[in-house]
Amino acid sequence: MSKTLSSEINQEVEKRRTFAIISHPDAGKTTLTEKLLLFGGAIRLAGSVKARKASRHATSDWMEIEKQRGISVTSSVMQFDYNGHRVNILDTPGHQDFSEDTYRTLTAADSAVMLIDVAKGVEAQTIKLFQVCRKRGIPIFTFINKLDREGQSPFDLMEELERVLGIRSVPMNWPIGMGRELCGVYDRMKDQVELFQGDDHETISVRKVADYHDPVIREMAGDYLADQLEQELELLDVAGDPFDFEKVRAGELTPVFFGSAVNNFGVQTFLENFLQLAPKPASRMSTSGPVEPTDEKFSGYIFKIQANMNPAHRDRIAFLRICSGRFERGMSVKHVRAGKDIKLSQPQQFLAQDRDIVETAYPGDIIGLFDPGIFRIGDSLSQGASVEFDELPTFSPEIFAKVTVKNALKHKQYQKGIDQLTEEGTIQVFQTTGSFDETILGVVGQLQFEVFEYRMRAEYGVEIQLHRMSFQFARWIVDDKIDPSKFRINSTLVKDKKGNYVALFENEYAMRTAMDKNPTSKFLEMAP
Ligand code: GDP
Repeated sequence: MSKTLSSEINQEVEKRRTFAIISHPDAGKTTLTEKLLLFGGAIRLAGSVKARKASRHATSDWMEIEKQRGISVTSSVMQFDYNGHRVNILDTPGHQDFSEDTYRTLTAADSAVMLIDVAKGVEAQTIKLFQVCRKRGIPIFTFINKLDREGQSPFDLMEELERVLGIRSVPMNWPIGMGRELCGVYDRMKDQVELFQGDDHETISVRKVADYHDPVIREMAGDYLADQLEQELELLDVAGDPFDFEKVRAGELTPVFFGSAVNNFGVQTFLENFLQLAPKPASRMSTSGPVEPTDEKFSGYIFKIQANMNPAHRDRIAFLRICSGRFERGMSVKHVRAGKDIKLSQPQQFLAQDRDIVETAYPGDIIGLFDPGIFRIGDSLSQGASVEFDELPTFSPEIFAKVTVKNALKHKQYQKGIDQLTEEGTIQVFQTTGSFDETILGVVGQLQFEVFEYRMRAEYGVEIQLHRMSFQFARWIVDDKIDPSKFRINSTLVKDKKGNYVALFENEYAMRTAMDKNPTSKFLEMAP
Protein backbone atom coordinates (compact mmCIF):
# COMPACT_ATOMS: atom_id res chain seq x y z
CA MET A 1 0.00 0.00 0.00
CA SER A 2 2.68 2.40 1.12
CA LYS A 3 4.85 1.56 -1.87
CA THR A 4 2.06 2.36 -4.32
CA LEU A 5 1.29 5.64 -2.57
CA SER A 6 4.91 6.72 -2.74
CA SER A 7 5.25 5.81 -6.42
CA GLU A 8 1.98 7.58 -7.17
CA ILE A 9 3.19 10.75 -5.46
CA ASN A 10 6.52 10.47 -7.19
CA GLN A 11 4.84 10.22 -10.58
CA GLU A 12 2.59 13.20 -9.91
CA VAL A 13 5.50 15.33 -8.67
CA GLU A 14 7.51 14.54 -11.83
CA LYS A 15 4.62 15.84 -13.96
CA ARG A 16 4.12 19.11 -12.19
CA ARG A 17 5.28 22.58 -13.22
CA THR A 18 4.10 25.46 -11.04
CA PHE A 19 5.07 28.93 -12.18
CA ALA A 20 4.12 32.60 -12.21
CA ILE A 21 4.33 35.09 -15.05
CA ILE A 22 6.06 38.29 -13.98
CA SER A 23 5.71 41.42 -16.07
CA HIS A 24 4.80 45.08 -16.18
CA PRO A 25 1.18 45.93 -17.09
CA ASP A 26 0.47 45.77 -20.83
CA ALA A 27 3.42 43.56 -21.71
CA GLY A 28 0.89 40.88 -22.74
CA LYS A 29 0.50 38.65 -19.69
CA THR A 30 -3.24 38.16 -20.16
CA THR A 31 -2.72 37.36 -23.84
CA LEU A 32 0.09 34.90 -23.17
CA THR A 33 -1.77 33.20 -20.33
CA GLU A 34 -4.76 32.75 -22.57
CA LYS A 35 -2.68 31.19 -25.35
CA LEU A 36 -1.04 28.81 -22.89
CA LEU A 37 -4.44 27.77 -21.56
CA LEU A 38 -5.64 27.21 -25.11
CA PHE A 39 -2.75 24.84 -25.81
CA GLY A 40 -3.65 22.96 -22.71
CA GLY A 41 -7.30 22.84 -23.74
CA ALA A 42 -8.22 24.38 -20.39
CA ILE A 43 -10.53 26.91 -21.95
CA ARG A 44 -12.56 26.49 -25.07
CA LEU A 45 -12.88 30.05 -26.24
CA ALA A 46 -10.14 32.48 -26.99
CA GLY A 47 -10.94 35.65 -25.13
CA SER A 48 -12.10 34.05 -21.93
CA VAL A 49 -9.26 35.34 -19.82
CA LYS A 50 -9.53 38.75 -21.43
CA ALA A 51 -13.29 38.77 -20.90
CA ARG A 52 -12.64 38.04 -17.26
CA LYS A 53 -10.25 40.92 -17.09
CA ALA A 54 -12.65 43.33 -18.82
CA SER A 55 -15.86 42.49 -17.03
CA ARG A 56 -15.15 40.87 -13.74
CA HIS A 57 -18.68 41.41 -12.49
CA ALA A 58 -19.91 38.67 -14.81
CA THR A 59 -19.79 36.42 -11.76
CA SER A 60 -21.85 37.72 -8.94
CA ASP A 61 -19.62 36.70 -6.12
CA TRP A 62 -16.70 39.06 -6.51
CA MET A 63 -16.43 41.48 -3.73
CA GLU A 64 -18.04 44.83 -4.18
CA ILE A 65 -14.83 46.73 -4.53
CA GLU A 66 -13.92 44.57 -7.46
CA LYS A 67 -17.22 45.33 -9.12
CA GLN A 68 -16.84 49.04 -8.61
CA ARG A 69 -13.43 49.12 -10.15
CA GLY A 70 -13.81 46.28 -12.60
CA ILE A 71 -10.59 44.68 -11.48
CA SER A 72 -9.59 41.64 -9.56
CA VAL A 73 -8.33 41.57 -6.02
CA THR A 74 -7.77 37.88 -6.41
CA SER A 75 -4.73 36.22 -7.77
CA SER A 76 -6.08 32.92 -8.85
CA VAL A 77 -4.53 29.76 -10.15
CA MET A 78 -5.03 28.15 -13.51
CA GLN A 79 -4.34 24.53 -14.19
CA PHE A 80 -4.01 22.54 -17.40
CA ASP A 81 -2.38 19.45 -18.87
CA TYR A 82 0.09 19.51 -21.72
CA ASN A 83 2.34 16.76 -23.12
CA GLY A 84 2.06 14.71 -19.97
CA HIS A 85 2.70 17.68 -17.68
CA ARG A 86 0.31 19.14 -15.14
CA VAL A 87 0.80 22.88 -15.32
CA ASN A 88 -0.20 25.37 -12.61
CA ILE A 89 -0.02 29.06 -13.53
CA LEU A 90 -0.17 31.41 -10.58
CA ASP A 91 -1.73 34.68 -11.60
CA THR A 92 0.13 37.71 -10.29
CA PRO A 93 -2.10 40.78 -10.39
CA GLY A 94 -0.67 43.86 -12.05
CA HIS A 95 -2.13 47.31 -12.73
CA GLN A 96 -3.76 48.96 -9.72
CA ASP A 97 -4.32 45.64 -7.99
CA PHE A 98 -0.61 45.11 -7.47
CA SER A 99 -0.14 44.32 -3.80
CA GLU A 100 1.88 42.39 -1.28
CA ASP A 101 -0.14 39.35 -2.31
CA THR A 102 1.55 39.54 -5.67
CA TYR A 103 4.93 39.08 -3.98
CA ARG A 104 3.66 36.36 -1.66
CA THR A 105 2.23 34.45 -4.58
CA LEU A 106 5.74 34.22 -5.99
CA THR A 107 6.83 32.21 -2.94
CA ALA A 108 4.47 29.46 -4.09
CA ALA A 109 6.03 29.22 -7.58
CA ASP A 110 8.85 26.86 -8.55
CA SER A 111 9.88 29.01 -11.51
CA ALA A 112 8.94 32.26 -13.21
CA VAL A 113 8.33 33.43 -16.74
CA MET A 114 9.46 37.01 -17.20
CA LEU A 115 7.49 38.65 -19.97
CA ILE A 116 9.04 41.69 -21.62
CA ASP A 117 7.73 44.08 -24.27
CA VAL A 118 10.30 44.19 -27.08
CA ALA A 119 9.94 47.97 -27.39
CA LYS A 120 9.76 48.90 -23.71
CA GLY A 121 12.35 46.51 -22.33
CA VAL A 122 12.67 45.94 -18.58
CA GLU A 123 10.02 48.03 -16.75
CA ALA A 124 9.48 49.01 -13.12
CA GLN A 125 7.08 46.29 -11.97
CA THR A 126 9.14 43.61 -13.69
CA ILE A 127 12.21 44.72 -11.72
CA LYS A 128 10.40 44.41 -8.38
CA LEU A 129 8.97 40.99 -9.14
CA PHE A 130 12.27 39.80 -10.58
CA GLN A 131 14.07 40.72 -7.37
CA VAL A 132 11.71 38.60 -5.29
CA CYS A 133 12.28 35.62 -7.60
CA ARG A 134 16.01 36.26 -7.55
CA LYS A 135 16.14 36.15 -3.76
CA ARG A 136 14.45 32.77 -3.83
CA GLY A 137 16.89 31.52 -6.45
CA ILE A 138 14.20 30.07 -8.69
CA PRO A 139 14.81 29.66 -12.43
CA ILE A 140 13.59 32.57 -14.56
CA PHE A 141 12.64 32.15 -18.21
CA THR A 142 12.29 35.20 -20.43
CA PHE A 143 9.74 35.68 -23.20
CA ILE A 144 10.28 38.81 -25.28
CA ASN A 145 6.90 39.72 -26.66
CA LYS A 146 5.39 41.81 -29.47
CA LEU A 147 8.00 40.92 -32.05
CA ASP A 148 5.46 41.88 -34.71
CA ARG A 149 6.17 45.49 -33.70
CA GLU A 150 9.35 47.49 -34.09
CA GLY A 151 11.38 47.20 -30.93
CA GLN A 152 14.87 47.28 -29.50
CA SER A 153 17.54 45.09 -30.96
CA PRO A 154 17.86 41.69 -29.29
CA PHE A 155 21.45 42.50 -28.30
CA ASP A 156 20.31 45.72 -26.59
CA LEU A 157 17.65 43.77 -24.69
CA MET A 158 20.20 41.21 -23.51
CA GLU A 159 22.46 44.01 -22.38
CA GLU A 160 19.52 45.58 -20.53
CA LEU A 161 18.74 42.32 -18.72
CA GLU A 162 22.30 42.25 -17.47
CA ARG A 163 22.59 45.94 -16.63
CA VAL A 164 19.20 46.43 -14.96
CA LEU A 165 18.57 43.00 -13.47
CA GLY A 166 22.08 41.64 -13.20
CA ILE A 167 21.25 38.39 -14.94
CA ARG A 168 23.04 36.83 -17.90
CA SER A 169 20.88 35.52 -20.71
CA VAL A 170 21.05 32.85 -23.38
CA PRO A 171 18.81 33.25 -26.41
CA MET A 172 17.12 29.97 -27.25
CA ASN A 173 15.81 31.38 -30.50
CA TRP A 174 16.63 34.51 -32.50
CA PRO A 175 14.34 36.76 -34.53
CA ILE A 176 14.66 36.90 -38.31
CA GLY A 177 13.66 40.52 -38.86
CA MET A 178 11.32 42.46 -36.65
CA GLY A 179 8.10 44.45 -36.90
CA ARG A 180 6.79 44.54 -40.45
CA GLU A 181 9.87 42.69 -41.67
CA LEU A 182 9.55 39.85 -39.20
CA CYS A 183 9.46 36.56 -40.98
CA GLY A 184 10.29 34.08 -38.25
CA VAL A 185 12.69 32.89 -35.59
CA TYR A 186 15.71 30.64 -35.73
CA ASP A 187 15.69 27.94 -33.07
CA ARG A 188 19.31 27.73 -31.88
CA MET A 189 18.85 24.51 -29.94
CA LYS A 190 17.13 22.49 -32.63
CA ASP A 191 18.54 24.22 -35.71
CA GLN A 192 15.22 24.88 -37.27
CA VAL A 193 13.38 27.88 -38.59
CA GLU A 194 9.87 28.76 -37.57
CA LEU A 195 8.18 30.92 -40.12
CA PHE A 196 5.33 33.33 -40.04
CA GLN A 197 3.19 33.09 -43.11
CA GLY A 198 0.62 35.37 -44.58
CA ASP A 199 -0.18 38.96 -43.68
CA ASP A 200 -1.95 38.01 -40.49
CA HIS A 201 1.27 36.25 -39.36
CA GLU A 202 -0.83 33.40 -38.16
CA THR A 203 0.29 30.25 -39.86
CA ILE A 204 3.52 28.83 -38.68
CA SER A 205 5.63 26.40 -40.60
CA VAL A 206 8.68 24.74 -39.16
CA ARG A 207 11.67 23.86 -41.38
CA LYS A 208 14.60 21.82 -40.18
CA VAL A 209 17.90 23.25 -41.46
CA ALA A 210 21.54 22.19 -41.24
CA ASP A 211 22.58 25.37 -39.41
CA TYR A 212 22.08 29.10 -39.76
CA HIS A 213 24.14 29.19 -42.96
CA ASP A 214 21.67 26.88 -44.68
CA PRO A 215 20.73 28.35 -48.11
CA VAL A 216 17.11 27.45 -47.38
CA ILE A 217 16.97 30.43 -44.97
CA ARG A 218 18.10 32.72 -47.78
CA GLU A 219 15.34 31.40 -50.01
CA MET A 220 12.75 31.94 -47.34
CA ALA A 221 13.85 35.24 -45.81
CA GLY A 222 15.80 36.95 -48.58
CA ASP A 223 19.47 38.00 -48.66
CA TYR A 224 19.23 40.99 -46.36
CA LEU A 225 17.65 39.16 -43.42
CA ALA A 226 19.71 36.01 -44.00
CA ASP A 227 22.96 38.04 -43.90
CA GLN A 228 21.84 39.81 -40.76
CA LEU A 229 20.90 36.52 -39.09
CA GLU A 230 24.26 34.98 -39.97
CA GLN A 231 26.21 37.91 -38.59
CA GLU A 232 24.22 38.11 -35.40
CA LEU A 233 24.32 34.40 -34.66
CA GLU A 234 28.03 34.23 -35.39
CA LEU A 235 28.57 37.00 -32.88
CA LEU A 236 26.36 35.24 -30.37
CA ASP A 237 28.21 31.93 -30.82
CA VAL A 238 31.51 33.64 -30.12
CA ALA A 239 30.59 36.22 -27.48
CA GLY A 240 27.38 34.92 -25.93
CA ASP A 241 27.00 32.61 -22.94
CA PRO A 242 26.63 28.93 -23.76
CA PHE A 243 23.47 27.22 -22.56
CA ASP A 244 24.19 25.86 -19.08
CA PHE A 245 21.40 23.86 -17.48
CA GLU A 246 22.86 24.12 -13.98
CA LYS A 247 23.05 27.90 -14.18
CA VAL A 248 19.48 28.07 -15.47
CA ARG A 249 18.30 25.93 -12.59
CA ALA A 250 20.16 28.12 -10.12
CA GLY A 251 18.49 31.25 -11.54
CA GLU A 252 21.83 32.67 -12.70
CA LEU A 253 21.16 32.45 -16.42
CA THR A 254 17.84 33.14 -18.11
CA PRO A 255 16.91 31.37 -21.34
CA VAL A 256 15.37 33.92 -23.70
CA PHE A 257 12.62 33.23 -26.23
CA PHE A 258 11.32 35.71 -28.78
CA GLY A 259 7.75 35.71 -30.01
CA SER A 260 4.41 37.38 -30.32
CA ALA A 261 1.70 36.27 -27.95
CA VAL A 262 -1.22 37.89 -29.74
CA ASN A 263 -0.27 36.19 -33.01
CA ASN A 264 0.40 32.95 -31.19
CA PHE A 265 3.86 33.00 -32.63
CA GLY A 266 6.59 31.19 -30.78
CA VAL A 267 4.24 30.41 -27.90
CA GLN A 268 3.97 26.68 -28.40
CA THR A 269 7.73 26.12 -28.79
CA PHE A 270 8.24 28.31 -25.77
CA LEU A 271 5.80 26.22 -23.75
CA GLU A 272 7.42 22.96 -24.81
CA ASN A 273 10.95 24.11 -24.04
CA PHE A 274 9.87 25.69 -20.81
CA LEU A 275 8.15 22.52 -19.58
CA GLN A 276 11.31 20.53 -20.31
CA LEU A 277 13.67 22.94 -18.60
CA ALA A 278 11.54 24.15 -15.69
CA PRO A 279 11.89 22.32 -12.38
CA LYS A 280 9.34 20.06 -10.77
CA PRO A 281 8.34 20.92 -7.18
CA ALA A 282 11.45 20.94 -5.02
CA SER A 283 11.96 20.33 -1.33
CA ARG A 284 10.95 23.16 1.00
CA MET A 285 12.65 24.32 4.17
CA SER A 286 10.89 23.81 7.46
CA THR A 287 12.01 24.43 11.02
CA SER A 288 12.94 20.75 11.23
CA GLY A 289 14.87 20.63 7.95
CA PRO A 290 13.92 20.19 4.29
CA VAL A 291 10.61 18.52 3.41
CA GLU A 292 10.73 16.41 0.24
CA PRO A 293 7.68 16.62 -2.04
CA THR A 294 7.69 12.85 -2.27
CA ASP A 295 7.23 12.40 1.49
CA GLU A 296 4.06 10.37 1.94
CA LYS A 297 2.71 12.65 4.64
CA PHE A 298 0.77 15.61 3.35
CA SER A 299 2.06 19.10 4.15
CA GLY A 300 1.58 22.62 2.83
CA TYR A 301 1.45 26.27 3.79
CA ILE A 302 -0.90 29.18 3.30
CA PHE A 303 0.46 32.03 1.20
CA LYS A 304 -2.62 34.11 0.67
CA ILE A 305 -6.01 34.75 2.21
CA GLN A 306 -8.78 36.06 0.04
CA ALA A 307 -11.72 37.64 1.78
CA ASN A 308 -15.28 38.06 0.68
CA MET A 309 -15.21 36.23 -2.59
CA ASN A 310 -18.84 35.64 -1.77
CA PRO A 311 -20.25 38.62 0.14
CA ALA A 312 -23.46 36.73 0.91
CA HIS A 313 -21.50 34.30 3.04
CA ARG A 314 -18.60 36.49 3.96
CA ASP A 315 -16.37 33.51 3.56
CA ARG A 316 -12.67 33.65 3.16
CA ILE A 317 -10.49 31.42 1.05
CA ALA A 318 -7.03 30.48 2.23
CA PHE A 319 -4.70 29.52 -0.64
CA LEU A 320 -2.52 26.58 0.24
CA ARG A 321 0.52 25.41 -1.67
CA ILE A 322 0.96 21.66 -1.28
CA CYS A 323 4.57 20.80 -0.44
CA SER A 324 4.47 17.05 0.14
CA GLY A 325 2.26 13.98 0.11
CA ARG A 326 -1.21 13.50 -1.29
CA PHE A 327 -4.14 15.71 -0.47
CA GLU A 328 -7.54 14.09 -0.18
CA ARG A 329 -10.80 15.83 0.28
CA GLY A 330 -12.11 15.46 3.83
CA MET A 331 -8.74 14.48 5.27
CA SER A 332 -7.76 15.52 8.78
CA VAL A 333 -4.56 17.50 9.19
CA LYS A 334 -2.76 19.33 11.91
CA HIS A 335 -3.04 23.10 12.00
CA VAL A 336 0.46 23.47 13.40
CA ARG A 337 0.32 26.97 14.89
CA ALA A 338 -3.05 26.38 16.54
CA GLY A 339 -2.01 22.88 17.64
CA LYS A 340 -5.37 21.50 16.49
CA ASP A 341 -6.59 18.87 14.06
CA ILE A 342 -8.86 20.19 11.34
CA LYS A 343 -10.80 18.58 8.54
CA LEU A 344 -10.27 19.84 5.00
CA SER A 345 -13.73 19.34 3.65
CA GLN A 346 -14.43 22.13 1.17
CA PRO A 347 -11.28 22.45 -0.90
CA GLN A 348 -11.51 24.35 -4.15
CA GLN A 349 -9.41 24.54 -7.20
CA PHE A 350 -9.37 27.56 -9.43
CA LEU A 351 -9.70 27.68 -13.14
CA ALA A 352 -10.54 31.05 -14.60
CA GLN A 353 -13.88 31.88 -12.99
CA ASP A 354 -15.04 28.47 -11.97
CA ARG A 355 -14.37 27.09 -8.58
CA ASP A 356 -14.32 23.33 -8.67
CA ILE A 357 -14.23 21.01 -5.72
CA VAL A 358 -10.96 19.08 -5.57
CA GLU A 359 -10.86 15.42 -4.61
CA THR A 360 -7.11 14.85 -4.69
CA ALA A 361 -4.10 17.08 -5.26
CA TYR A 362 -0.32 16.75 -5.10
CA PRO A 363 2.81 18.79 -4.39
CA GLY A 364 2.98 21.87 -6.62
CA ASP A 365 -0.81 22.20 -6.69
CA ILE A 366 -2.63 25.08 -5.06
CA ILE A 367 -5.91 24.53 -3.32
CA GLY A 368 -8.31 27.00 -1.82
CA LEU A 369 -9.52 26.14 1.67
CA PHE A 370 -12.67 27.49 3.21
CA ASP A 371 -11.49 29.67 6.08
CA PRO A 372 -13.82 30.45 8.95
CA GLY A 373 -11.14 32.78 10.34
CA ILE A 374 -8.65 30.23 11.61
CA PHE A 375 -5.79 30.79 9.19
CA ARG A 376 -2.99 33.31 8.95
CA ILE A 377 -0.53 33.94 6.15
CA GLY A 378 2.33 31.48 6.52
CA ASP A 379 0.40 28.84 8.51
CA SER A 380 1.53 25.26 7.97
CA LEU A 381 -0.77 22.25 7.75
CA SER A 382 0.59 18.75 8.02
CA GLN A 383 -0.34 15.14 8.45
CA GLY A 384 1.30 13.12 11.20
CA ALA A 385 4.22 14.93 12.81
CA SER A 386 4.06 18.73 12.91
CA VAL A 387 5.89 20.35 10.03
CA GLU A 388 6.39 24.08 10.22
CA PHE A 389 7.53 25.79 7.04
CA ASP A 390 9.78 28.82 7.22
CA GLU A 391 7.97 32.08 7.74
CA LEU A 392 6.96 34.01 4.63
CA PRO A 393 8.96 37.16 4.11
CA THR A 394 7.44 40.57 4.88
CA PHE A 395 8.03 42.82 1.90
CA SER A 396 8.97 46.44 2.09
CA PRO A 397 5.89 48.71 1.71
CA GLU A 398 6.05 51.76 -0.54
CA ILE A 399 2.88 53.68 0.30
CA PHE A 400 2.12 54.94 3.81
CA ALA A 401 -0.79 56.55 5.61
CA LYS A 402 -1.67 57.56 9.14
CA VAL A 403 -4.90 56.04 10.27
CA THR A 404 -7.51 57.55 12.59
CA VAL A 405 -10.94 56.36 13.69
CA LYS A 406 -13.85 58.71 13.06
CA ASN A 407 -15.81 57.52 16.09
CA ALA A 408 -13.62 57.14 19.18
CA LEU A 409 -16.17 54.82 20.80
CA LYS A 410 -15.38 52.22 18.18
CA HIS A 411 -11.83 51.83 19.34
CA LYS A 412 -12.23 48.20 20.39
CA GLN A 413 -13.62 47.08 17.04
CA TYR A 414 -10.94 49.13 15.32
CA GLN A 415 -8.18 47.32 17.21
CA LYS A 416 -9.76 43.96 16.43
CA GLY A 417 -9.99 44.87 12.76
CA ILE A 418 -6.38 46.05 12.62
CA ASP A 419 -5.13 42.89 14.33
CA GLN A 420 -7.12 40.56 12.11
CA LEU A 421 -6.33 42.34 8.83
CA THR A 422 -2.64 42.54 9.65
CA GLU A 423 -2.59 38.80 10.29
CA GLU A 424 -4.26 38.20 6.96
CA GLY A 425 -1.59 40.31 5.32
CA THR A 426 -4.01 42.95 4.03
CA ILE A 427 -1.80 45.73 5.38
CA GLN A 428 1.32 46.21 7.50
CA VAL A 429 1.03 48.22 10.66
CA PHE A 430 3.66 50.38 12.36
CA GLN A 431 3.69 52.43 15.57
CA THR A 432 5.46 55.75 15.82
CA THR A 433 8.29 55.97 18.35
CA GLY A 434 7.94 59.66 19.28
CA SER A 435 5.90 61.15 22.12
CA PHE A 436 2.57 60.56 20.32
CA ASP A 437 1.56 57.00 19.79
CA GLU A 438 0.24 56.94 16.26
CA THR A 439 -0.52 54.13 13.86
CA ILE A 440 0.94 54.14 10.38
CA LEU A 441 -0.16 51.68 7.73
CA GLY A 442 2.13 50.52 4.96
CA VAL A 443 1.19 48.82 1.71
CA VAL A 444 2.80 47.81 -1.55
CA GLY A 445 -0.17 48.82 -3.72
CA GLN A 446 -2.89 51.46 -3.30
CA LEU A 447 -5.66 48.89 -3.61
CA GLN A 448 -4.64 47.39 -0.25
CA PHE A 449 -5.75 50.65 1.41
CA GLU A 450 -9.09 50.52 -0.35
CA VAL A 451 -9.63 46.91 0.65
CA PHE A 452 -8.66 47.79 4.22
CA GLU A 453 -11.08 50.74 4.40
CA TYR A 454 -13.86 48.70 2.86
CA ARG A 455 -13.39 45.75 5.17
CA MET A 456 -13.08 47.88 8.31
CA ARG A 457 -16.45 49.36 7.46
CA ALA A 458 -18.18 46.19 6.18
CA GLU A 459 -16.84 43.68 8.71
CA TYR A 460 -16.04 45.71 11.82
CA GLY A 461 -18.44 48.64 11.43
CA VAL A 462 -15.60 51.14 11.79
CA GLU A 463 -15.22 54.27 9.67
CA ILE A 464 -11.59 55.18 9.37
CA GLN A 465 -9.70 58.03 7.83
CA LEU A 466 -6.40 57.60 6.03
CA HIS A 467 -3.97 60.47 5.76
CA ARG A 468 -1.40 59.81 3.08
CA MET A 469 2.21 60.40 4.09
CA SER A 470 5.09 61.29 1.82
CA PHE A 471 7.32 58.33 2.69
CA GLN A 472 8.29 56.02 -0.16
CA PHE A 473 10.78 53.57 1.27
CA ALA A 474 10.92 51.37 4.36
CA ARG A 475 13.99 49.59 5.69
CA TRP A 476 14.20 47.35 8.72
CA ILE A 477 17.08 48.56 10.85
CA VAL A 478 19.23 46.08 12.69
CA ASP A 479 21.52 47.68 15.24
CA ASP A 480 22.11 47.16 18.99
CA LYS A 481 22.38 50.86 19.70
CA ILE A 482 19.94 52.59 17.44
CA ASP A 483 19.84 56.40 17.59
CA PRO A 484 16.40 57.77 16.62
CA SER A 485 17.81 61.29 16.30
CA LYS A 486 19.63 60.16 13.17
CA PHE A 487 16.35 59.42 11.43
CA ARG A 488 14.73 62.84 11.45
CA ILE A 489 15.50 64.47 8.13
CA ASN A 490 12.87 63.42 5.58
CA SER A 491 12.54 60.20 7.53
CA THR A 492 11.11 58.74 10.70
CA LEU A 493 11.67 55.74 12.89
CA VAL A 494 8.75 53.42 13.66
CA LYS A 495 8.26 49.89 15.00
CA ASP A 496 6.58 46.97 13.27
CA LYS A 497 4.19 44.69 15.13
CA LYS A 498 7.01 42.50 16.35
CA GLY A 499 8.85 45.47 17.80
CA ASN A 500 11.51 45.68 15.08
CA TYR A 501 12.73 49.15 14.17
CA VAL A 502 11.78 50.33 10.70
CA ALA A 503 12.93 53.59 9.15
CA LEU A 504 10.66 55.32 6.63
CA PHE A 505 12.19 57.64 4.06
CA GLU A 506 10.71 60.24 1.76
CA ASN A 507 13.27 59.69 -0.95
CA GLU A 508 16.34 57.77 -1.87
CA TYR A 509 18.62 60.63 -0.92
CA ALA A 510 17.31 60.63 2.65
CA MET A 511 17.83 56.88 2.80
CA ARG A 512 21.40 57.11 1.59
CA THR A 513 22.18 59.89 4.02
CA ALA A 514 20.86 57.76 6.90
CA MET A 515 22.98 54.84 5.72
CA ASP A 516 26.06 57.06 5.73
CA LYS A 517 25.26 58.36 9.21
CA ASN A 518 24.68 54.86 10.61
CA PRO A 519 27.50 52.75 9.25
CA THR A 520 27.03 50.05 11.87
CA SER A 521 23.31 49.54 11.12
CA LYS A 522 21.96 47.06 8.65
CA PHE A 523 19.19 48.37 6.38
CA LEU A 524 17.04 45.43 5.30
CA GLU A 525 14.41 45.38 2.55
CA MET A 526 12.56 42.53 4.22
CA ALA A 527 11.71 42.02 7.87
CA PRO A 528 14.49 40.19 9.74
P1 GDP B 1 -1.24 42.57 -19.61
O1 GDP B 1 -1.60 43.90 -19.05
O2 GDP B 1 0.21 42.26 -19.44
O3 GDP B 1 -2.12 41.45 -19.19
O4 GDP B 1 -1.37 42.74 -21.21
P2 GDP B 1 -2.48 42.25 -22.23
O5 GDP B 1 -2.36 40.80 -22.52
O6 GDP B 1 -3.81 42.78 -21.84
O7 GDP B 1 -1.94 43.01 -23.53
C1 GDP B 1 -1.80 44.41 -23.58
C2 GDP B 1 -1.97 44.88 -25.02
O8 GDP B 1 -0.91 44.37 -25.82
C3 GDP B 1 -3.26 44.35 -25.65
O9 GDP B 1 -3.79 45.35 -26.48
C4 GDP B 1 -2.78 43.17 -26.47
O10 GDP B 1 -3.62 42.89 -27.57
C5 GDP B 1 -1.42 43.64 -26.92
N1 GDP B 1 -0.51 42.52 -27.22
C6 GDP B 1 -0.28 41.39 -26.53
N2 GDP B 1 0.61 40.61 -27.16
C7 GDP B 1 0.96 41.27 -28.29
C8 GDP B 1 1.84 40.97 -29.38
O11 GDP B 1 2.49 39.94 -29.46
N3 GDP B 1 1.93 41.93 -30.36
C9 GDP B 1 1.21 43.09 -30.34
N4 GDP B 1 1.37 43.94 -31.33
N5 GDP B 1 0.38 43.39 -29.33
C10 GDP B 1 0.24 42.50 -28.32
